[in-house]
Amino acid sequence: MSDEQELGITESKQYNTGEWYAEVVQKAGLANYGPEGMSGFIVTRPRAYALWERVQGFLDGLFKDTGVQNAYFPLFIPESYLEREKEIVEGFDPEVAWVTQAGQEELEERLAVRPTSESIIAPYMSQWVRSHRDLPLRVNQWASVVRWEATETKPFFRTKEFLWQEGHTAHATHEDAWDETMLRLDQYESVYEDLLAIPVLRGAKPDHDKFPGAHTTTTVEALMPDGKSVQAGTSHHLGTGFAEAFDLTYTDEDENTQVAHTTSWGLSWRSLGALIMTHSDDQGLVLPPTVAPEQVVIVPIWQADTQEKVLDYAEEIAEELEDAGVRVELDDRDERNPGFKFNEWELKGVPVRFEIGPNEVDDEVVTAVHRPDGESVELDRENIAEAVFDQFDEVYAKLYAAAEENLESNIREASSRNEILGTIGQHGGYVKAPWCSKESCEEEIKEQIAAEIVMVPLDDEESEIHHGEECAVCGEAAEETAYFAKSY
Ligand code: AMP
Repeated sequence: MSDEQELGITESKQYNTGEWYAEVVQKAGLANYGPEGMSGFIVTRPRAYALWERVQGFLDGLFKDTGVQNAYFPLFIPESYLEREKEIVEGFDPEVAWVTQAGQEELEERLAVRPTSESIIAPYMSQWVRSHRDLPLRVNQWASVVRWEATETKPFFRTKEFLWQEGHTAHATHEDAWDETMLRLDQYESVYEDLLAIPVLRGAKPDHDKFPGAHTTTTVEALMPDGKSVQAGTSHHLGTGFAEAFDLTYTDEDENTQVAHTTSWGLSWRSLGALIMTHSDDQGLVLPPTVAPEQVVIVPIWQADTQEKVLDYAEEIAEELEDAGVRVELDDRDERNPGFKFNEWELKGVPVRFEIGPNEVDDEVVTAVHRPDGESVELDRENIAEAVFDQFDEVYAKLYAAAEENLESNIREASSRNEILGTIGQHGGYVKAPWCSKESCEEEIKEQIAAEIVMVPLDDEESEIHHGEECAVCGEAAEETAYFAKSY
């Protein structure tokens, strides 16, 4: 991917979503593909890293408000550590990269490049926890992990190395660990709904698709405009399996030794993939003001005889916005005309554009244009720094409403195998169907249409299966409601 190519998106989001996405990522200056021979790796450019920093700042704030401390553990995990929890080894085995040599020396023990860090964090947590007074223990690390993904990779959505945070906690009881699991799921939901303008569904993964070794895996799922679901963040109740494997025990109030209950939870830069895919259009990137590196771009429009007064006015406004904490860019380049500037900032996703020409100066106003739909609003020069925040709220609300409309109109029901296949085939989106809880029934659907069960509802009421209801696939007694969808 190089920058020298023509400006402007040529692919269509609606008809060629994959190519369109790759083009937006490249032309909006977000990422490059890794070197030859390293497919599935990406170079994250400053504009995308800035988005990641916003996600990080938001989530880190929520974590710190709720008792989490950051720490950092080694990149490598000795094979013998990884082997202590059998399901983790088996679950991640095909995706683990190994270090076997350092310099000219063969290592005595192979070292795994962490695909996830339970196996190196739990042994240390076990040293730090002695009594019930040490619980709950909560640590988080911001790091990258490596998973040699066999399925097709896609910048941010699925890469072989990805940035994420992984939280790890230990608790005295099963219920405490469950509360923790749900608290983190709530926080992931908030990242999407309050920061990225994307509504999500919350649910649990079917048993056969849980995180290796977990008691329960909970998930937030976001629906992309092309009808595919994204597993947007997962929070795992690990039960006592990991604690048993790594001797994570504590003495209770009666001096009895008890096994701790643990959780882990991760949100990755896949969130950026969902952000880009959800809001952007055939003009390029669209970003909510909450995360945009530039929230406002000011494009002055002048002739030779008006240049000075227009620029003075624009500069004053830029300064005033900056003082109010707005991320503002004044594009006063002489060598580019306004039309070129409009296109370039649209491509980069700046949510609000201020157009300032001699008329605006004379009338003491500013013309504000919303990136998502081109709506233009005249704002008074006076109180401009206050008015701009209302514009941000409006743009955010528009983006959220569009995503919500997409989600709500794409949850359908089915009661037979053919109905599941037909509905997903025709519309994409989620199809809710009664399900017997057997993996073989999901397999049948998967084989025919590459859709899977992305979640079952957490909410008891929603998943309540009426007596006598039958699995849509096999006709045996149904046990829960499954959400089928194609997914990223
Ligand atoms: P996990 O530890 O497997 O539950 O992963 C935590 C979260 O990381 C998942 O819910 C995904 O949203 C995200 N994730 C998993 N694999 C990848 C990948 N290869 N690239 C980007 N994000 C990923």
